[in-house]
Amino acid sequence: MPWPPSQTDTTNADAMPDSSSAGVVRLADLTRTLGEPARQLAILGEGNTSLDCGDGTFWIKASGSRMGSVTDADFVRLEAAPLVALSDGPPLSEAELKAQTLAARVEGEARPSIEAILHALCIQEFGAASAAHCHPVSANSILCSDRSRELAGGILFPDQAVICGAETVFVEYAHPGIDLAKAVRTAIATVADRTGEMPRTVWLENHGLLALGSSVDEVLSIVEMADKFARILAGVLAVGEPRWLSPEQAGDLVAREDEIERRVKLASGH
Ligand SMILES: [Zn+2]
Repeated sequence: MPWPPSQTDTTNADAMPDSSSAGVVRLADLTRTLGEPARQLAILGEGNTSLDCGDGTFWIKASGSRMGSVTDADFVRLEAAPLVALSDGPPLSEAELKAQTLAARVEGEARPSIEAILHALCIQEFGAASAAHCHPVSANSILCSDRSRELAGGILFPDQAVICGAETVFVEYAHPGIDLAKAVRTAIATVADRTGEMPRTVWLENHGLLALGSSVDEVLSIVEMADKFARILAGVLAVGEPRWLSPEQAGDLVAREDEIERRVKLASGH
């Protein structure tokens, strides 16, 4: 998606206003898929997902609910603007943050995820239609190492560049909640300003993965491809050192007409 985001860019279904229950059904499907035990992307109450409603509000997973078994009742709808404003404001205690997040709730009964501000930024400021955050075993094997920045930033194979982006974002460790949201905001804006594209893949040091997409289907594709990359990288490191694609090679792949077409199809669920 181009950066800065255009409010009139509705080239995919999920960018359309969607405060209806259909949006929650799709988001719950994505969340359960990401929480399937065999995928090793999240256990217990780890991870969170969101979906833009197109009217200044968004759906987000409730705090503590298990991704693999969420129901529609495990999602709440929040106003984005007050949460984005918190990331500009003074430091908040954990209690103040919880109270402010609850105050932004317009639908649903559950307590929103601690990463509500992060998702509000992804949707309102970075133009994502949907976002997912999880803690893949594969990604954290890289991100908890002393080579995390060097390794997470590389491109190993063509499909990785096409789906995850030719350039990904690396964020140094920050505490979950408002500190993490601020750190991600700065890191995404730095890459987006340079490339003119909204990054789709964000690596969080000692923490996990954040995927930003133009639909829930694209978000799933990004998480799956990032997970595959991290698994391949672990195999590469068992054999030798990675042979990275050059920035030019990765950029050429992303710009190819057939690859752009393929990504649009993937984002629309085909
Ligand atoms: Zn997390």
